[in-house]
Amino acid sequence: MSHYDLIIVGSGPAGRAAAIQAGKLKRRVLVIDRKDRLGGVSVHTGTIPSKTLRETVLNLSGWRERSFYGRSYRVKDNIGADDLKARLHMTLDHEVDVLEHQFNRNHVDTLHGMARFVDDKTIEVATEAGDVTRLTADRFLIATGTKTHRPDNVPFNGRTVVDSDEFLELAQIPRSLIVVGAGVIGVEYATMFSALDVRVTLIEPRDTFLDFIDRVLIQDFVHQIRENGVDLRLGSAIERIEDAGEHVEVSLANGRHVRAEMLLFAAGRMGATSALNLAAAGIKTDHRNRIEVNRKTYQTVVPHIYAAGDVIGHPSLASTSVQQGRVAACHALDIPTLPESPWFPYGIYSVPEISTCGMSEEEMQTRGIPYEVGVARFRETSRGHIMGLEHGMLKMLFSLKTRRVLGVQIVGEGATELIHIAQAVLNLKGTVDYFVQNTFNYPTLAEAYKIAGLDAFNRMPIPEEYKVKRDAAKPNTV
Ligand SMILES: Cc1cc2nc3c(=O)[nH]c(=O)nc-3n(C[C@H](O)[C@H](O)[C@H](O)COP(=O)(O)OP(=O)(O)OC[C@H]3O[C@@H](n4cnc5c(N)ncnc54)[C@H](O)[C@@H]3O)c2cc1C
Repeated sequence: MSHYDLIIVGSGPAGRAAAIQAGKLKRRVLVIDRKDRLGGVSVHTGTIPSKTLRETVLNLSGWRERSFYGRSYRVKDNIGADDLKARLHMTLDHEVDVLEHQFNRNHVDTLHGMARFVDDKTIEVATEAGDVTRLTADRFLIATGTKTHRPDNVPFNGRTVVDSDEFLELAQIPRSLIVVGAGVIGVEYATMFSALDVRVTLIEPRDTFLDFIDRVLIQDFVHQIRENGVDLRLGSAIERIEDAGEHVEVSLANGRHVRAEMLLFAAGRMGATSALNLAAAGIKTDHRNRIEVNRKTYQTVVPHIYAAGDVIGHPSLASTSVQQGRVAACHALDIPTLPESPWFPYGIYSVPEISTCGMSEEEMQTRGIPYEVGVARFRETSRGHIMGLEHGMLKMLFSLKTRRVLGVQIVGEGATELIHIAQAVLNLKGTVDYFVQNTFNYPTLAEAYKIAGLDAFNRMPIPEEYKVKRDAAKPNTV
């Protein structure tokens, strides 16, 4: 029976980061994955495919050029499912190639098969061919992520009623699409397909959506996606979903019916833990099959078994999973590491993009923090004019007491890249003064930071040391 310093179950972002960290520390490390291709949900059905699809849609549809050349402008006519999939497969193959190379270079062993605990020190891996291997380790990391939530009353058929994994196998682009669930995944796919001129209805049972985003931005976002043709139905509880052969029909509790050629069910994901036999290792899961951990070390209740990534729940991002995996590996292998920064960004790759870091205005109010707001519209920037941007805004929130930036919210082109300026200032405890004192490249969208900073600065009390003191001025003539 082989013995390892660290056995990792799952080769997604958390498992990958942990494995490479362990490899760099020259420890014996093994990654087990039930899929024959490494990379996890992130590479095969989640982050990378959805973002590649988005990029392909925006490029082929000529979306970014339409404000100049009109709504009927296309880079390619008759865009089909094969056009979308061609680029997808090229990108995914490249991602897997890079990952395999990283594992080889860092001497990370891999094993393909379904893993389950025998006890808290032993794991068993079963291949599809029926072979079973037992392995032991000093430490374990569970990085098995999540799988799609498939309620029994949804008539999934893999063709016209699909979950977000099956959606990527699209045989043809539907003329109409219902998306159930206005979470991040639902909103991304709904707006992406609307950019392809598919008639999209986005149904959300609750009255609100993306609740962690500032409401001013959501209003702007809703305005834009409705203008782009998305039929957003909030507060619409679903009574029945029916596969009627030629079409799919959704009956809403308010008595209305919605029909489309295809339905994407994107309401929720569950921790992928049911096959792990966690009870044998002494670990319990919550109602959504997720594992509770110490959020500083990523240890479970069994101190030598760690868990990281989506399997531990919020925030369930590839970006945070990478960070968690590395921190968990360092702790498991007794290597000191820096504490994580408090503020990380959220990126929603809808059309238009949304990205946020820090607090929303609602959160500032709940916490009773006196604040000032600075806003900039992309159309106020020269770069915005050059790019033909009609929409897009950046909003910053500053503490009136400390002048520190406490929250930034962006909707519009480049939001997910622009946010990192704010993230740096936030985590380095910078103030509104940073945006006023610093020069930004011109013309850029980043200039919006300067405009929003000045907007707030001009309404905030001026600190005594900034006031002009004429008496003290020394003439600087020669
Ligand atoms: C459609 C979609 C879009 C997304 N977009 C973004 C985005 O834009 N940005 C972002 O940051 N995040 C995004 N995410 C989230 C991101 O994909 C996840 O946060 C990330 O993949 C989680 O990584 P992980 O390491 O927890 O494991 P995962 O990537 O979930 O991988 C887990 C691996 O464990 C394996 N496994 C499970 N059980 C077993 C077992 N018993 N034995 C062996 N192997 C097992 C699985 O086969 C899988 O390969 C998106 C997700 C989806 C679904």
